[in-house]
Amino acid sequence: MDSKQFREFAKAAVDYIADYIDSVEDRPVLSGVSPNYLSELIPDEPPQTGEAWQEVLQDVDRIIMPGLTHWMSPHFHAYYPTACSFPAIVGELMSAGFGCVGLSWVASPAYTELEVVMMNWLGKLLNLPEEFLNCSEGPGGGVIQGSASEVTFVALLTAKEKKVADIRSVHPEISEAEIKGKLVAYSSNQSNSSVEKAGLLGSMTMRLLPVDDKGQLRGGTLLEAIRKDKEQGLIPCYVVANLGTTPTCAFDKLEELGPICRDEEIWLHVDAAYAGTAFICPEYRHLMKGIDYADSFNFNPHKWMLVNFDCSALWMRNAKHLVEAFNVERIYLKDQHKGLAPEYRHWQIALGRRFRALKLWFVLRIYGVEGIQKHVRGQIALAKFFEDLVRADPRFEVCTSNMGLVCFKLKGDESPTIKLLEEVQKRKNIFVNTGHFQGRHVIRFAICSRLTERRHVEFAWNEFCSVANILEGRKME
Ligand code: PLP
Repeated sequence: MDSKQFREFAKAAVDYIADYIDSVEDRPVLSGVSPNYLSELIPDEPPQTGEAWQEVLQDVDRIIMPGLTHWMSPHFHAYYPTACSFPAIVGELMSAGFGCVGLSWVASPAYTELEVVMMNWLGKLLNLPEEFLNCSEGPGGGVIQGSASEVTFVALLTAKEKKVADIRSVHPEISEAEIKGKLVAYSSNQSNSSVEKAGLLGSMTMRLLPVDDKGQLRGGTLLEAIRKDKEQGLIPCYVVANLGTTPTCAFDKLEELGPICRDEEIWLHVDAAYAGTAFICPEYRHLMKGIDYADSFNFNPHKWMLVNFDCSALWMRNAKHLVEAFNVERIYLKDQHKGLAPEYRHWQIALGRRFRALKLWFVLRIYGVEGIQKHVRGQIALAKFFEDLVRADPRFEVCTSNMGLVCFKLKGDESPTIKLLEEVQKRKNIFVNTGHFQGRHVIRFAICSRLTERRHVEFAWNEFCSVANILEGRKME
């Protein structure tokens, strides 16, 4: 393919995407295909000779489109939002066009330098403590990674290496293996699956502690778990506090957990994957109270901040711990700029790095701070509107309502709620999923797409009501 054909292909693809997004509302949000549908539509072997791009684009429509779940549909209310915006799409396209791999400063200086500036912009937007920023005097700094899962794991490994080094500096007679075998991590039982996975991958026991009736991990619970472990000769090492849990968007009591971590010399990592974006609005920053105790903080612009997947922002109070943990040098990676700019390969698992800062830059410039604030506030207002609809119907109860997520159920025992959800899911007019709160099934209703408006929320509510009416009618028969 030459550049002339590329122009034609890419322009047609951009038109296709714009048409898709303009019409996504009219498509069923959930795909109707069955497992293995695709293998029947596609040959078993790749073509021997190249095909025309027009045929390929047609096949996107014929083969791929039917198997898409439309995350951008205003009827998508499952999980949490995964951002998609035009500026970020262009950022992805341009970064693909540059085709660089930012494995070191010299490998593409703009990659590193834009990331440094973007992480400072973002850190300031969230009003993070100064020490986290690349521009502060200290050893703090921010980096973009692919996912919150990677970040939680990387922070765990950093905490682990630091703990071993700290203990061995006082007790060199204790072996590394002995210390590592005794390390323990803690989080709440509402944490995302990636937190438990970080423990598994990092070979560290992860205790998932019970929460209070608001879904928050409290200081007393953590302290008690630490006390029991220390009695057994174990070594507390790492705590993941949630600011916005996956099931209900609950906020752990950071101001209680923080001092405990400080006194016990435990690494405190804050997972604000979804809700972190809300801290761009000053009125939600009180939920970050206690952030001064954190060693690392993470949120995903690719969730709620209009930056396409993947873009997960991590700040470290002292990035030296991270670099010391992951610094593996080779002669071919060294360059003369060492020390003047961060070598981000030491801050992550992979060697190669994508140009994620570009799409972040585009979003921040084209939406502006006010544009992002408007988006966040608008989505929270829509969730509140849905909450009011639920509260006004005496058959239902709201279990939790935080940020853009409302968890609700039918009053009484949980089997009618499970049935209601199953029926709504079968109809495929909206996409919602279930969660657990206080041991009960709840329906999680999240405002996800940036295209969702009040009328879509009303549509979703009518969907729940009509299914509830049908189920009630059946019960009466
Ligand atoms: N942490 C929380 C609180 C989440 O809600 C999620 C995903 O929804 C994650 C972590 C995992 O995010 P990622 O897909 O970026 O690994």
